[in-house]
Amino acid sequence: MTSYPGIVSDTGHNRSGAQLPALSFEFFPARTPRMDRNLWRTMGQLELFSPAFFSMTYGALGSEREHSISAVESLQQEGPVPVAAHITAAGHTRDSLLALAARFAALGVRRLVALRGDDLAQGGFRDVADMVESLLGVADFDISVAAYPEVHPKAPSLAADLASLRRKLDAGSRRALTQYFFDADVFLRFRDAALRAGITQPLVPGILPLHDFDKVQGFSARCGASVPDFLHERFRGTRAGSTEQREIGIDIIVKLCENLIREGVEQLHFYTLNQPNLSYEIVRRLQYPLRHELERNSVSRAA
Ligand code: FAD
Repeated sequence: MTSYPGIVSDTGHNRSGAQLPALSFEFFPARTPRMDRNLWRTMGQLELFSPAFFSMTYGALGSEREHSISAVESLQQEGPVPVAAHITAAGHTRDSLLALAARFAALGVRRLVALRGDDLAQGGFRDVADMVESLLGVADFDISVAAYPEVHPKAPSLAADLASLRRKLDAGSRRALTQYFFDADVFLRFRDAALRAGITQPLVPGILPLHDFDKVQGFSARCGASVPDFLHERFRGTRAGSTEQREIGIDIIVKLCENLIREGVEQLHFYTLNQPNLSYEIVRRLQYPLRHELERNSVSRAA
């Protein structure tokens, strides 16, 4: 097992005394009052695990952009968990992106996830490495970038993808958050290849709670994440969105995370899809203590 430098976790230990990886949770901005209630409900549950940060995705187009920015603003002002604002080169000139970063910094946002963004001509930056370097000129941000265990669909090869990842990290990013995957070996092979390519910063596995198998198959095809045969086997004969699918999905993702924890990952990044309960249920089954349980344990240790 390779050990990676990086993130200090205050997340606690499981029942067998093993240190648990840090947690982060990703949300997307709400567009309706109902979605907004769901979002805050989900965050309210997940903050009980003392996560390293909550991250908020960024839609580069007009109204999407405003939703993202105001979601970051209210999270930063009203939430107790550090916020990581996603920010995309796409849809911005160099000046407009750096102005947005300065606005976040003025609000007290210290974490960014720096991305190229999809479907738009790249804005004023040469590439994400150039963007990271420029963002660090605005403030001493803690920057994460994206990585793709199954190779970005537009990258010509694994080697080219890793070279690009290394450039982004060497420009001053602290870690890479990965696209989701369902087979731990996919991540572990990628981590080994990254190490061989000279990448020593932490690679943080992205975890997608499986909720509705049909939907997951649809968007996995679009983002280049494979759906392994064993998943088809497990879901065969089940009804889309049923309780049975939900239980199977939770079981699969808990086992995936247990594998990754055994392999020494230092952080797990959950794509919550703004769904209350699902990520909570998975994290709880991984034996993460809630904040008040951690506090109780440390008081009883001190006594
Ligand atoms: P890069 O590092 O530039 O690209 C990754 C790899 O793909 C590199 O090897 C690069 O060379 C290759 N590549 C990408 N595009 C091209 C191209 N056009 N031609 C040739 N090679 C190419 N998107 C959003 O809009 N908003 C978000 O909030 C957001 N959050 C994300 C969070 C995570 C954790 C991840 C994994 C992705 C997220 N994305 C988001 C999606 C991301 O913007 C896309 O995957 C985008 O295509 C690549 O972004 P990148 O920052 O990895 O870019």
